[in-house]
Amino acid sequence: MKQGNIGVTTENIFPVIKKFLYSDHEIFIREIVSNAVDATQKLKTLAGKGDFQGEMGELKVSVAIDKEEKTITVSDRGIGMTADEIERYINQIAFSGANDFLDKYKDDANAIIGHFGLGFYSSFMVSNRVDIITRSYQEDAKAMKWSCDGSPSYTLEEVEKADRTDIIMHIDDDSQEFLEKNKIEDLLRKYCHFLPVPVAFGKKTEWKDGKQVDTDEDNIINDTEPLWTKKPADLKDEDYKAFYRHLFPMSDEPLFWIHLNVDYPFNLTGILYFPKIKDNIEMQRNKIQLYCNQVFVTDAVDGIVPEFLMLLHGVIDSPDIPLNVSRSYLQSDANVKKISTYITKKVSDRLASIFKNDRPDFEKKWDDIKIFIHYGMLSQDDYYDKAKAYFLLKDTEGKYFTLEEYETLIKENQKNKDGQTVYLYANDVDAQYTFIDAAKEKGYSVLLMDGQLDTPLVSLLERKLENTTFTRVDADVIDRLIQKEETKRDLLEAERSDRLSSIFKSLLPRTDKSDYHVEVQALGEEQLPVMIVQSEYMRRMKEMSRIQSGMSFYGEMPDMYTLVLNSDAPLIKEVLSDSEQQTAEALKPIEAELRGLNARQAVLRQEQDKKKPEEITQEEKDDLKKCGEDIQAETKKKNEVLANYAKDNDRVHQLIDLALLQNGMLKGEALTRFVKRSVSLIK
Ligand code: ADP
Ligand code: MG
Repeated sequence: MKQGNIGVTTENIFPVIKKFLYSDHEIFIREIVSNAVDATQKLKTLAGKGDFQGEMGELKVSVAIDKEEKTITVSDRGIGMTADEIERYINQIAFSGANDFLDKYKDDANAIIGHFGLGFYSSFMVSNRVDIITRSYQEDAKAMKWSCDGSPSYTLEEVEKADRTDIIMHIDDDSQEFLEKNKIEDLLRKYCHFLPVPVAFGKKTEWKDGKQVDTDEDNIINDTEPLWTKKPADLKDEDYKAFYRHLFPMSDEPLFWIHLNVDYPFNLTGILYFPKIKDNIEMQRNKIQLYCNQVFVTDAVDGIVPEFLMLLHGVIDSPDIPLNVSRSYLQSDANVKKISTYITKKVSDRLASIFKNDRPDFEKKWDDIKIFIHYGMLSQDDYYDKAKAYFLLKDTEGKYFTLEEYETLIKENQKNKDGQTVYLYANDVDAQYTFIDAAKEKGYSVLLMDGQLDTPLVSLLERKLENTTFTRVDADVIDRLIQKEETKRDLLEAERSDRLSSIFKSLLPRTDKSDYHVEVQALGEEQLPVMIVQSEYMRRMKEMSRIQSGMSFYGEMPDMYTLVLNSDAPLIKEVLSDSEQQTAEALKPIEAELRGLNARQAVLRQEQDKKKPEEITQEEKDDLKKCGEDIQAETKKKNEVLANYAKDNDRVHQLIDLALLQNGMLKGEALTRFVKRSVSLIK
């Protein structure tokens, strides 16, 4: 028997393995099983070349648990190892710069294992002893047994017989969970699900005489020829759908898929599916599985797959992705960059070809796929140019346009006096019906932008498209959204405009969450007397604050609404003249007083303007201040008179409520009052 020390330059590799690789203990099964698969495939290759002429037997890998002995055994009938090879491949682990590396990656089990080719040694994460019993495929090879108890010393001796290779792991007391059948079966399904050699875990069971009993049939846990390894030309739609169901049993049918298959300048295969996205974007992430030669590696593919395509589902398999490095290294890797670019291009080409070959089908799917495209345009600058070809805008009537088509459509009609083309949009056809209607009346087109990412998308499009502004259709009255000429019809003089404002303002709802102000405009007789609009800017800022951090300031601002009174509308004219009559008497003394005060204030200001600041006496200053305060007090009185007029005025109440109602803002008690008032007005 030979004894020796394992050739590691670090003092002792085992504490490192146990300590640092703590969180990822379960991957030992992947490492040991994939070694068995490698050994099996090497033998097949040799046989294929005629270098091995012996009996191959059934080439499968078996995994067995012995609860009594507390062992897990992984057996294969691959190439095996000679004593010499054990010496070379198991005992002498090549460490270069080991200490540095361990320091750097001590939190990343995959990195350590991969870097050192420590795959085999990961078995010590769960074992207090590991035995290898093996016989090389070579004709005169002797059966050998290697054994190591987790210290750097091992034993190597000749034994009677070996059916090629058994790796026997004597499971540690603190890792007993791995002796559970279900646990191992779960892990095998996770990591070994698509290994290219059959992996048997015990026997299939069946119900017999009231209990589960083993059958003769192996319980094969893997699919050795997963769909992505096959030729796209040989596959039907149903095959792709079935594979999707197999991968994601709980998901809806995918919209479409892309079969990736490239071998130069890097090797990559895979299938990416466009899923039907439900409400929650986050939930859908991490559904791309990364494989390396059919060995499952991870479902965290950030850095490899472009951010916006992380919403896709599926598998990618590439031996060219450096799996065992840190994330930051990964992102700077040239191959990985190429792969990411390739995937973007493939996806984009596929979308472009569906658009080109079957536009109706593409339009049908647009509402489901737009989230990906929006996300891509927003998160990846160069994707915008690719997506331009098939990016669609949808109008409120359900018609779809490319950017170019839409621009042609509205260019003439929706240009404002400053030469800007104004894109009108709605995000709720029912709620904004009146505004949409008013726009259509003018012959304008209104887009429907009700997607999750439409708010930032609107800003992006404004940046990308020249001389273009977007505005929601309820942001102002239509003539001001697309202002065609400089001046409007004659406006009401300030006095009367103020009066109308005070009357209506006194009845507007007052809450912390919303803020109203009133504007009087001459909109033409045919337009509605009153409407409520919401400033585009503030609304957008508030919407952005919901999806972007660092904007909470806007989030906390109240919603800002403007009540627009149309001074051309007969009803408003009536309110004006009626109020003038009704309040004339009460206002007479106040207005007289105000006129006097205003005149006095003007004189005082004029006098003081002539002097240098230091020449103005305290007395004079106080005079002006007092005058201002008096004006305020009288104005307040005046507003009270007007408020008093408004208080019992059904017409004003009704006009305001109608405007609120039109925007879906009349609720609860106010709505009930409106209904009652309306009923009494009919009588
Ligand atoms: P890697 O698989 O990356 O080469 P491992 O530490 O997993 O590194 O394995 C080290 C070496 O031990 C393998 O390259 C192989 O030569 C040998 N080996 C491990 N398991 C087996 C096996 N079941 N049969 C034959 N050789 C094996
Ligand atoms: Mg290995």
